[in-house]
Amino acid sequence: MEKIFNYIGGEHVPSNSNEWIDNYNPSNGSVYSLIPDSNDQDVENAQLAAQKAFVSWSASSISVRSKVIQKIAILIDKNSEDLALAESIDNGKPLSLAKKVDIPRASSNMSFFATAILHDSSQSHQMSKEEINYTLKKPIGVVGCISPWNLPLYLFTWKIAPALAAGNTVVAKPSEITPMTAFLFSKICKEAGLPPGVLNIVHGYGPKVGAAITKHPEIKAISFTGGTNTGKEIAKVAAPMFKKLSLELGGKNPNIIFDDCDLDKAVSGAVLSSFSNQGQICLCGSRLFVQRKIYDVFKEKFIKKVNELTIGDPLNEKTKIGALVSKSHLEKVLSYIHLAKQEGGSIIAGGKQVFLEGRCENGYFLQPTVIEGLSHDCRTNQEEIFGPLVTIMPFDSEQQVVQYANSTIYGLSSTVWTNDLNKANRMSEKLQSGIVWINCWLVRDLRTPFGGVKKSGVGREGGFYALNFFTEPTNVCININ
Ligand code: NDP
Repeated sequence: MEKIFNYIGGEHVPSNSNEWIDNYNPSNGSVYSLIPDSNDQDVENAQLAAQKAFVSWSASSISVRSKVIQKIAILIDKNSEDLALAESIDNGKPLSLAKKVDIPRASSNMSFFATAILHDSSQSHQMSKEEINYTLKKPIGVVGCISPWNLPLYLFTWKIAPALAAGNTVVAKPSEITPMTAFLFSKICKEAGLPPGVLNIVHGYGPKVGAAITKHPEIKAISFTGGTNTGKEIAKVAAPMFKKLSLELGGKNPNIIFDDCDLDKAVSGAVLSSFSNQGQICLCGSRLFVQRKIYDVFKEKFIKKVNELTIGDPLNEKTKIGALVSKSHLEKVLSYIHLAKQEGGSIIAGGKQVFLEGRCENGYFLQPTVIEGLSHDCRTNQEEIFGPLVTIMPFDSEQQVVQYANSTIYGLSSTVWTNDLNKANRMSEKLQSGIVWINCWLVRDLRTPFGGVKKSGVGREGGFYALNFFTEPTNVCININ
């Protein structure tokens, strides 16, 4: 059985416990590799390696850092086929999606920050002829990066790239549910010549390894992406230690369709935003609000397209809906279908677990599911489900849909379909979310601020926002008289 190893001080090592966790292939339910069951001591070793490496990495020039990070991007591209296959097997996502989105984006994350650091600048404020201020941007030290299972390498590199580019050294933990591409990434870093200890990866359970990173007194900042409750736990520990915190958390995103939209474009966009990656993207639109005048026609076209989505073996190029990431996650989504029925909802598409034949007969598959007839404030419409399940509801006015859209504790992203630019602007002002897409979805420019409001997070990632998070400004005031 293949073993995944921790990456500490430039070496691939087992956990000092020598205990292992089973790693499942969600498309067939089998254990196909083993993950180190790491603990506090492994995190301690990783932190010590990172502390040692910080001295020379933080002192290295931006061009040295840029070159090695760029080399990592090149090697991701070179190994993209293998990485995409590994991501699909580990996560259950369609191979075509991993090839098109996950791995190219992981490479872009590295090359984007490798070059962003070359263009970063700090400020200078002149007070008089004699007095001038300038701002140094110093790396923080050893930082912790904790990432989830839905876009494994994509979100792992989204944190690591700016942290390294800014001159920090890193102790990172991928989700124990999808550790494989982080392991392959560590081999790539080694091949690219990233100095030992600059990046350290400790695999294992969140409440053990993630918690050990969070509470380590010498890990000065935590960049976390994951669920809101986990974010709360991390904040409870890290805030009294005055650590810098970036929290990218859950969402319950509205997808708002006005009667003046381009209907076919809105239908296709809604299918994508509802069911990409089996609905397991924090930005998926899980609540569809459709203006009453076009409700029936939209619904008919939408359901037709949803029923055409091919559910199947993630390795089959025709598959649009792969496996959910784990048995427990499948059970969670099924429990929400049950809840939606209890709350008075009618299932108008899907709703059932899928049992495939052959290689994937024991996989965790679920039909893309659409539920109507629920009120905007029921539990199904308020809680994050994070699966291939959307609700559809009619609305009458702008004011009403803003109220529905903003009624959850979350505020990550919103999507609006309209051909009225003034309306689009008004909606963008009123929607409580960190990101608003108008007539598109998941279009990402890596320079833009990325993050949520309310319980969807604290802080912003992306572009110079991320580089600023991973640096401490020091103002220097000089009297030159
Ligand atoms: P979790 O919060 O369960 O886990 C995220 C990461 O935190 C994993 O590596 C996990 O480890 C680790 N972890 C778990 N418990 C602790 C702890 N006590 N201390 C420190 N680390 C811990 O999220 P999921 O992996 O289930 O991911 C899905 C969630 O992520 C959804 O809520 C989704 O909305 C959110 N998300 C948000 C995004 C955003 O940008 N806002 C983007 C993508 C996802 P392990 O898995 O090994 O237990």
